[in-house]
Amino acid sequence: MVVELVTTGSELLLGQIINTNSAYMAEGLNKIGFDVIYQTTVGDNRERMREAIMHALTRADIVITSGGLGPTQGDITKEVCAAIFGRSLRLDEDCVQRLKDYFARLHREMAENNLRQAMIPEGAHIFVNHAGTAPGIAIGQEGKLLVNLPGPPTEMKDMFERSLKPFLEKKYGFSAVIISRVLNTFGIGESSLEMQIQDLILAQSNPTLALLVRPSGVIIRITAKAKTREEAQGLIADMEQEIRARVGTYIYAVDDADMENVVGAGLKEKGLTIACAESCTGGLLTSRLTDVPGSSAYVSGSVVSYTDEVKADVLGVNREVLAARGAVSDEVARQMAEGVRSRIRTDVGVGITGIAGPDGGSADKPVGLVYIAVSGDRGTESTKNIFTGTRKQVKYQTTQTALDMVRCYLKKI
Ligand code: ATP
Ligand code: MG
Repeated sequence: MVVELVTTGSELLLGQIINTNSAYMAEGLNKIGFDVIYQTTVGDNRERMREAIMHALTRADIVITSGGLGPTQGDITKEVCAAIFGRSLRLDEDCVQRLKDYFARLHREMAENNLRQAMIPEGAHIFVNHAGTAPGIAIGQEGKLLVNLPGPPTEMKDMFERSLKPFLEKKYGFSAVIISRVLNTFGIGESSLEMQIQDLILAQSNPTLALLVRPSGVIIRITAKAKTREEAQGLIADMEQEIRARVGTYIYAVDDADMENVVGAGLKEKGLTIACAESCTGGLLTSRLTDVPGSSAYVSGSVVSYTDEVKADVLGVNREVLAARGAVSDEVARQMAEGVRSRIRTDVGVGITGIAGPDGGSADKPVGLVYIAVSGDRGTESTKNIFTGTRKQVKYQTTQTALDMVRCYLKKI
């Protein structure tokens, strides 16, 4: 079944609100096998709304609108749709009662114009609004279905899940299940990744593959469509195996797991503790590590060592090395990692020193230069990185790289 979404509201056209309703409905409908082929947005103008919906009905089996079901004169969607199908509006007593109950529950006086929301097109199916006042509507005619959902996202979502999906299933049956699995990679660029799995991308049909660049790294999304969930999962598993055989070392997590979750799980599993010495990240690494519930099992403590004095006095970084090499240097990062590890007495220590910008760079030490070291029983490892972007982006990329270094270090112990 082919669907067109028509979101209504001048606020959307003015760019004052983001059209989250379209994204939500499209994702939900695609997942159950409906093909959303157009998304249209139109303002609160009777003529243009009529034109948009008429046009949608020529190219889709099902047209779903959101917005404009409110009680005011500007809310016209229901009237426009009823007129298109030549239906008149009648006051529906059940709807009136539900409105009265709603206002009674809130101890509020019902305004006269709220009754407009109880005006229902003849022969329409009504979706009760459990999150607000405006009921939703579905009108079928000549093989087409026209659905009106309310605009406020909480009301739309509630009605979409609770009423519209079961209604569509009863009427059409769900034709498919579509599921996705996301493989999160780190340490490989989009184009290198594409090169390694190019033949799979070119040959894709079901499952489909998509590469998307995120601040956390490039993600590979595998999406499969099948009659049953099991069948779709099977298709995904085969594809995942093929991808892992080629770029498995870069994949650190699946679906919504973040790098800090993966590192946390690794530390926990091995019964190890960690401490960080953070300069340019100002505590962000420790903050991310402690975003994970239960992180007290492995995060012992950290030092934000911004100045040379703190690096030397608190962490024991050698003053001569600081003077000779500068605070942003490989040696200092290593001594920070080793120092924080021995002072806080943990299994793993991380040292970070760099220039987050936008000022403070020089020819041999540019903005974005960050040294990261990880220290443990297997010795100290370090990397020199040059990150780009804003101060915030540099800080984030630094923590992501540091976490990945810890992840790889843990694999070896
Ligand atoms: P109300 O009874 O509140 O008037 P309504 O069904 O008439 O609801 P609209 O007036 O079109 O809906 O929109 C109400 C509010 O819902 C908007 O101000 C906006 O905050 C939100 N909204 C409407 N459409 C969308 C959309 N497509 N995406 C996200 N939010 C939306
Ligand atoms: Mg409104």
